[in-house]
Amino acid sequence: MEKQKSTYIPERYWRAIKNNDSTYNGLFYYGVQTTGIFCRPSCKSRLPLPENVQIFSSAKEALAKQFRPCKRCRPEQLLLPEDKWVEELIDWIDCHLQRKITLEDLAEVVHVSPYHLQRTFKKRTGKSPHVYIRNARVERAKEYLVSTDKSISSISKEVGVENTAYFITIFKDSMNVTPTIYRARQQGRGNLC
Ligand SMILES: [Zn+2]
Repeated sequence: MEKQKSTYIPERYWRAIKNNDSTYNGLFYYGVQTTGIFCRPSCKSRLPLPENVQIFSSAKEALAKQFRPCKRCRPEQLLLPEDKWVEELIDWIDCHLQRKITLEDLAEVVHVSPYHLQRTFKKRTGKSPHVYIRNARVERAKEYLVSTDKSISSISKEVGVENTAYFITIFKDSMNVTPTIYRARQQGRGNLC
């Protein structure tokens, strides 16, 4: 490989590499000229000497410069097409609706920065992850309301909302009726409003 003298590393990038800071994942990659391997900022591999480090803005760029992806932090995984990992995320959300889900949880699943995730998710689905998850909770609750006799508070918990009052609020925001009225209407028990 052609040995290039290292260019300038922005101070915050060097700090991210030193601290294995995963919030920088997806924002840049670094190659180590002595090994020919490139990593994500969060990689826990041994800290290289700064003069051997080369910064890339994408995994593609690192590969084009003949660096090999690190086996430990798998930086090339990001080359998965965006729609593919958004799809993966949607499946994951579906399986984990019964609990609290943070942006950081999601970022952990697909190994990208929360910022990048938020932007890409919205671009692909038209909704922020937050709104998407809230809608998914309401959809799941609708199923339970119609197909079970469970109480509103236990349905609230099963769709990942601890606070029943809050659950009723988001349900009403989206459906224009409370869960109780929705259930009654669906079961054809008449006009409660
Ligand atoms: Zn690595």
